[in-house]
Amino acid sequence: MSKEFQAPRGFHDILGSDLRKFRRITSTVRDILKRYNYEEIITPVVEFAEVFERSIGETTDIVQKEMFVFTDRKGRRLALRPEGTAGVVRAYIQNRLYTQKPYHKLFYEGPMFRYERPQAGRYRQFHQIGVEVFGVAEPHADAELLKLADDILKALNVRATLEINSLGCRVCRPAYREALVEYLNRVSDQLCKVCVDRKDRNPLRVLDCKVETCKEAVKEATKMVDFLCEECREHYEKVKAYLTNLGVSFRENHNLVRGLDYYTRTVFEAVSEELDVAVVAGGRYDYLVEEFGGPPTPALGFAVGVERLMLLVEEPERDYELYFVIPFGDVHAYALKVVDVLRKKGKVVELSYRKGGLRKQLELANRLSADYAVIVGEEEMKEGVVSLKDMRTGEQRKVKPEEID
Ligand code: ATP
Ligand code: MG
Repeated sequence: MSKEFQAPRGFHDILGSDLRKFRRITSTVRDILKRYNYEEIITPVVEFAEVFERSIGETTDIVQKEMFVFTDRKGRRLALRPEGTAGVVRAYIQNRLYTQKPYHKLFYEGPMFRYERPQAGRYRQFHQIGVEVFGVAEPHADAELLKLADDILKALNVRATLEINSLGCRVCRPAYREALVEYLNRVSDQLCKVCVDRKDRNPLRVLDCKVETCKEAVKEATKMVDFLCEECREHYEKVKAYLTNLGVSFRENHNLVRGLDYYTRTVFEAVSEELDVAVVAGGRYDYLVEEFGGPPTPALGFAVGVERLMLLVEEPERDYELYFVIPFGDVHAYALKVVDVLRKKGKVVELSYRKGGLRKQLELANRLSADYAVIVGEEEMKEGVVSLKDMRTGEQRKVKPEEID
């Protein structure tokens, strides 16, 4: 196939076993979200580029290197969304949801786009399911959110460690920022070029650098937790106490900052023990709604990386029996009726489109892992029955389709 007819690098078809894993993940998350009474929202895949630039932060990797930006025919700068929160915040304000209820719990599911170097579990189009809570400042909301992430991972049988940190607020972060810059200046000869460049503009990002020497250099870095103001400290302590009380295990990671600028107070990641990558990530963003022009609204949320989890979950077992209906001779009118009767009874039914003899038909039934072959010949049609063959035992009997249960 010529190159132009292949999917672009980093873009993937999802099918077969992968798709079954994909659906297992999304339906498990949706089931759990239902019990938490979250409401779904669908926002556009395209927003004005500023929506992301202003919220995620001009100096972040996502905005500087990873965003798909294009201009439309009128010269407006649009972007494919690299994450879900900014669009949901935009929608929350634009739809004036804050006038309807004192707080909101929303979730979204869909594709995200980032121009990254593709590798296992890292694509240019990938999928997230994310949740956002608007209008709650208290730490019990943080704890419930972390519990939700933990419930999701447990339900999917994924072993991951919750890492948490606090990034403080407007009151306490500036002093920390200064102290951190001071520290980074002292170790600047050990930092990579990018970090030397960003240490003054966005020093917290240095803590998130993946380069080995940087990781080593920031091990002993000044910590935000040592600078938390009274309110932030109390908030952080309560979140931890609630989690402990709930039996949710976590580990504090004082260098955890996350790749987006909008976070305040609690940030967290669930890091897969097997792959050493984050599969869930999120935190609080108490000023973002306000910065978008909405009323001051504390908020928090997280996103689940579906492709990352696909590397870790098992394909679900089939939870239904398959009936494979095989017509022989001029019986298609009757066979279509049989199929309809069975489907009305709630059975999962495939009508064979294969031509050929019984052996070939049964071969196909086996390839499809059918549990039953339903043989419909002229004799069966005359009698108003089918020959039902149990594919495991090979047993076969004649039965009226209405009587199959
Ligand atoms: P990473 O440090 O792995 O690049 P990130 O901090 O950029 O992650 P977030 O923006 O927090 O990731 O997105 C939340 C989750 O979405 C990540 O934890 C990950 O599971 C998933 N994710 C992020 N980028 C990609 C990608 N390019 N392909 C697949 N999944 C991704
Ligand atoms: Mg990233």
